[in-house]
Amino acid sequence: MEPENEIGVRAVERLCAKIEERGRRTPFGFPEYIALAARFPERIFRNIFQMFYDMMYSYTDVEKDEYPDDPESIKYVPYNCSRLFELGTDRPFFGDRLFVNRLMGHISSFRRGIRQNRIYIFEGPHGCGKSTFLNNVLMKFEKYSATDEGASFETVWRLNRKLLGNGTDSTAKYLVEQLRNMVDPSAQKGLNLEAARSGTAEKQYLEIACPSHDSPLLLIPKANRRDFFNELIPDRDFKHKLFSHKQYEWVFKDSPCTICQSLYHALLDILDSPAKVFEMVYARRNLFNRRLGIGISVSNPGDRIERMHTVNDEHIQSQLNSILMDGSKVRYLYSRYANTNNGIYAIMDIKDHNKERFANLHGIISEGVHKVDCIEENVNSLFFALTNPEDRENISDTQSFADRITYVKIPYVLDFNTEIKIYRNIFGDQIRKYFLPRVLENFAKIIISSRLNPHSTAMAEWIPDSSQYGVYCDRNLLLLKMDIYAGIIPSWLSEEDRKNFTAKKRRKIIAESEAEGDRGFTGRDSIRMFNEFYQAYMKKDKPITMAMLSLYFKKHCCAGGPVPEDFFDALNSLYDYTVLQEVKESLYYYNEENISRQIQNYLFAVNFEIGQIQKCRYTNDELKITEELFETIERKILGHRSDEARRKNFRLEVQNIYASKTLAQEILIEGKPLRDTQLYQSLYDRYLHNLKENVLAPFLKNDNFRSAVKDYGTEGFKTYDERIREDVSLLVGNLGARYGYTQNSAKEVCLYVIDNDLAQKFAEQ
Ligand SMILES: [Zn+2]
Repeated sequence: MEPENEIGVRAVERLCAKIEERGRRTPFGFPEYIALAARFPERIFRNIFQMFYDMMYSYTDVEKDEYPDDPESIKYVPYNCSRLFELGTDRPFFGDRLFVNRLMGHISSFRRGIRQNRIYIFEGPHGCGKSTFLNNVLMKFEKYSATDEGASFETVWRLNRKLLGNGTDSTAKYLVEQLRNMVDPSAQKGLNLEAARSGTAEKQYLEIACPSHDSPLLLIPKANRRDFFNELIPDRDFKHKLFSHKQYEWVFKDSPCTICQSLYHALLDILDSPAKVFEMVYARRNLFNRRLGIGISVSNPGDRIERMHTVNDEHIQSQLNSILMDGSKVRYLYSRYANTNNGIYAIMDIKDHNKERFANLHGIISEGVHKVDCIEENVNSLFFALTNPEDRENISDTQSFADRITYVKIPYVLDFNTEIKIYRNIFGDQIRKYFLPRVLENFAKIIISSRLNPHSTAMAEWIPDSSQYGVYCDRNLLLLKMDIYAGIIPSWLSEEDRKNFTAKKRRKIIAESEAEGDRGFTGRDSIRMFNEFYQAYMKKDKPITMAMLSLYFKKHCCAGGPVPEDFFDALNSLYDYTVLQEVKESLYYYNEENISRQIQNYLFAVNFEIGQIQKCRYTNDELKITEELFETIERKILGHRSDEARRKNFRLEVQNIYASKTLAQEILIEGKPLRDTQLYQSLYDRYLHNLKENVLAPFLKNDNFRSAVKDYGTEGFKTYDERIREDVSLLVGNLGARYGYTQNSAKEVCLYVIDNDLAQKFAEQ
């Protein structure tokens, strides 16, 4: 052989080995399959519902519960579905927290074993992304089914000609003919057989795959199943589940398809030995392939309905011809429903031809069987459909069928975090940096406000009088509801309302979302509006502010407009409140270290005479003991208006306790650090309490502070005295570290807080 040729031959050999490895569809014997069932029972004892459940959970991560110790939690879980809906898809789908919780709730019934004679209809308005959702889920299911974890197996018969024929042609001929009649009543008897026999090399066996993708487990006679599995499976926990959980009822109740069943009996008649019959039973990987229509069938409204009871699918024909080892011209026929037994049957929008398809499902879903001539075919499929709310009339509403329908609402996004995810996906992650923190969220909240019911009974039941929250929230509490939809319980809620936020009330509020999101700005509207807004206001050196949002949305925020009338003002007010808290906290946390230092120095200094210079043993600060040193700290602890007598008294008292108890007892005997002593703790708490009340006051009155903020990061900043520079630097630093501000946006928000006198605005509350 020429060397070049040899290279080619080797390459093809390697390729073929890889293809074989990846294909993994080579049938293997029944004993091997049973060994697999003993080793991996969780995977083998699994119908389509259980498998779909496993798939959904294997592509979904549950993020940390925001309130793990909440006794009223309703497990409104922060699922992360990016691997399920986004990763590796042509078009990502973004399901909000409400939808995903709703969806996972339904999916979990798949493992609870409620008999699944039903169709799941995903109902949502135009542009909600429902077809993207279904496409992506089906794609992931297909992928999952190709992994080891997602493997499932179907029955393949290998009919050994020699064994069956005992050397004579007649029995084999009879059997194969009978089989053909079963599979294809229309086939001309005898003719096909002749054609098959005239093929090149006659194979040892004829391979017939179960057209209903039955699990080989079902070939075990029902009467023997319990004992057989009991002896087979070593895993006691699994066995307990298998024998007692409703989800495994099918293992004991379901029968194989009529073809497998009659084949089994026919073989038993001929061979007169179950052992010999099982020698012909093989298992092979179930293939789910939407494009080829194997195991997953998706019908579009425009797809014409096949009028024949049985279908001969050319795709499968060619597949089978390559799989069937004898390459004979067996016509493999099946009802179009058999193909999705143990699979997924999906109808995209219920209109045009899909109306008829949907109506045809009536009997199948109710009974779980489909009549093919006089044969009853099992159809245990996962049925999905999509529909727009206005097409409900196309859904035949005979009562018996209505009971079989589960509607899963898939409205426009109602959770602002998800809405932002959509913008980031389209316009890029960098959009965030052109907005002041929280302003992007607020854009999303305005969009969502148009999609909510203006009035909420559930919210009003929880908080009958919303006026107490006038500065944080709109009259209808939509802002509060949006937080709840996003899984947030805001800190501005009163203790009482927080306590009253019971599981029952939460469920009611979340349930209201099913009747929302079908109005207001559509998914497409919001993307168009975001684009328009972003193009108009995005600047390199000036972040997007609330004022810009106000300008842009002005025309929508009026009586009768899509955004409720008082919503924007409330949003703005909540924004003011929130940024004020951020600025306060940023100053306050800086002070925490500083306060601790001051108190330690004070506790040390009270033991010395005025005029001395001492190095503090706790902080290593060199202290010049002066009246001023005492006074500054005492005023912070006792209040600004405390007089000299009170302060001196206090100082004496502190010194006494420090000497007799703190130092003598707690530090020297008990070995506590100063920060853990009672005296330190009480001074620290009083200091903090006073400070929190007035944290901004000294800064706001100081014009120097405002200009220092303005000059931060410029040459001019160096001209301010050290104290102010330190305060401003730490404020800006904390706003960055804690709340995600850039240097520029931190300056911007500080000036906003000062210039709008927000401290004053909220002081009256
Ligand atoms: Zn079968």
